[in-house]
Amino acid sequence: MRPSWRLTACLAGALAAAGVAGADDKSGATMKIVPNIAKRVAQFAPTPINADLSALSAADRKDLAAITAAAKLMDEIFLRQAWTGNPALRREMAAWKGADADAARRYYAIMVGPWDRVAEKKPFIGDRPHPEGAGFYPEDMSKEEFEGWLAQHPADKERFLSTFTVIRRPDIKQPGKLTAVPYAQEYAEWLKPAAERLRAAAKETTNASLRKFLETRADAFLSDDYFASDVAWMDLDAPVEVTIGPYETYEDELFGYKASYEAFVTVNLPQESAALARYKERLPWLERNLPIPDDQKNLSRGTESPIRVVDVYYSSGDPRAGVQTAAFNLPNDERVREAKGSKKVILRNVMRAKFDQCLIPISRQVLAPDQVGDVSFDAYFNETLHHELSHGLGPGTITLGGRKTEVRLELKEQYSTLEEAKADVMGIYNILALIEKGDMPAALRKALEPTYVAGLFRAARFGVDEAHGQGVVAQFNYLTAKGAIQVDASAHYRAVSEKFPGAIRDLLHDMLTLQAKGDYAGTKAFLAKYGKATPELRTALGRLTAVPVDIRPIYAAD
Ligand code: ZN
Repeated sequence: MRPSWRLTACLAGALAAAGVAGADDKSGATMKIVPNIAKRVAQFAPTPINADLSALSAADRKDLAAITAAAKLMDEIFLRQAWTGNPALRREMAAWKGADADAARRYYAIMVGPWDRVAEKKPFIGDRPHPEGAGFYPEDMSKEEFEGWLAQHPADKERFLSTFTVIRRPDIKQPGKLTAVPYAQEYAEWLKPAAERLRAAAKETTNASLRKFLETRADAFLSDDYFASDVAWMDLDAPVEVTIGPYETYEDELFGYKASYEAFVTVNLPQESAALARYKERLPWLERNLPIPDDQKNLSRGTESPIRVVDVYYSSGDPRAGVQTAAFNLPNDERVREAKGSKKVILRNVMRAKFDQCLIPISRQVLAPDQVGDVSFDAYFNETLHHELSHGLGPGTITLGGRKTEVRLELKEQYSTLEEAKADVMGIYNILALIEKGDMPAALRKALEPTYVAGLFRAARFGVDEAHGQGVVAQFNYLTAKGAIQVDASAHYRAVSEKFPGAIRDLLHDMLTLQAKGDYAGTKAFLAKYGKATPELRTALGRLTAVPVDIRPIYAAD
C-alpha cells in the first residue's frame, strides 16, 4: 500500500483537463494533443535523485548494477499493463515532429500512457477514454461479462481473480470466450531476463538475507508464486535493499484484482532507521501521554510493523508514473502480513526533493516572511515520520454500550478524513512531548510549527472542498480560533509559538474524543464547523498555481 495520501503526493493536480485541440500542422501527427501540454509538463519539476554510495563495498555496487538492470525491465511490463496499446502508440509518437510533439512525448513518459494521472485520467493525446481495466482485461470487456463468465465457469474463478493473471480473448472466432493468462507467460520476454539478473546479483552479494530474497524472487518471476519471496523481503537487512515485482492493484480500476510491476532499488540508511527504532520504543509511552482519559487509550495494541528509512537509487514501473511515491507499506498479501507483519519503507531522498521543489516554494508564498527561513527538512521529515507512527496510536477497537466495534466502522466515510487530520496533529503533539522529554533536540522547536503550517498548505492544494481537504482546513480554522495561527491582511500565515502546544493539545483531545466515542454525528458536526475554507485561505492557495505539482526524478542510472 501507499499508506498516506498526504505523504505520497507532493501536490494534487492543479490543471483541469482542457479541451483537445489539433496538434501542430507540421507535426504530421495523426493524434490530437491538448494545447496546454507544455504547462502540464512544467507541473513536474525535473530533479536529480541521488543516493550516497560511499559506504557500499565493491560487491554491493556490482549488485546495485545487476538489480538496476532487472528493475529497468519492469518499465516495459508496466507500459503494457497500463494499456496494451502503449507499445504501438510509443512507436507512432517517435516519428512526431514539432515542439508540442516533444512535450507530448515527455508527458507521455511521465504518465506512462496518453491519460493524465493528475487530471482524472482524461486523455492529453487523442480522445480515447481511459480503460478502467487498464491493460489487464480486454478493453471491450464489461464487469458484467467477467462476472457472467465466472458464473458459467466456476472452475475458472481462482485463475481469473488471481493477482498475477491477465484476462484475454484467446480466439477471434469465439469473441465471447475469456481466458486467464499467467503473468509469467504474458510477460516472459522481460521476466526471464529479470530473473537472470537477480540470480547474477544473488551470486555477487555477501549478504545472506539479500541473496535469499533475490533467489526466491527470481523463482517467483517464473512461477507467479510470490509467497516465499515476500517472506524473504520481510527479513531483508542489507546495505542495498530492493523491492521488485507485482505489488499494488491501483492501476486495475475495474476490479482492483491485478498487480502492477514496480521496482525500488534503494540504499539503506542505518542511522535514520535506528533513530526511528528509538521513537518506536517510545510508542507505549506516547499512548499513555495522549490527552484523553486512560479508559479511552489503546494500551494493548500489538507490536507495530518495522519501518525502514532508505535513499532511492533507482525506481521503475508503476510508482514512477505520475506523482512519485515517498513511502510504501508492503507486502499486500494477507498471508504474509499474518505470518510476518508488513514493512513500511520511507524514501528519504524523494521526500527531500519534494520538500525542496514544493514545500519551500509554498512557504515563500504563504508564510509570514520572517518565518520562511525557519522551515526545515529535518522538521518536515520528523513530522512525516510521526504522522505515520500516529496512525498506530489512539482509539482503534472500541466498546460502545457493551458492543465491540472499530472506530473505522463507526465513523464510516468520515473516518479517513478525521484519521488523517488526527495523524497530522498527533505527530506535532508527540514531537513536542519528545522534545520536552529530552528525546528530540530542543532546536527542532523553532522549525516545527512554520514547517507544519507550510505542510498544511501543501495538503490543502489537494482541494479544500473535498473530504480530505476538510480535515486540513479544520486544522487551520481550529488553530486560528485558538490564536496559534495568525493571518495578516495580505493572507500571509504565522505560527504563534506560545499558543501552539496548548492549541494542538486541545485539538487532539477533541479529535480523539470523537474517535473514542465512535461519534459519527459529532465528527460530521466538527468537520462542518471547522472545515470551511476562509477567503484568506483561498487567496493564499491562489498564489500557489506556479508551484510544481510534483517532481520528475532523474537518476544517475537512467
Ligand atoms: Zn496518513
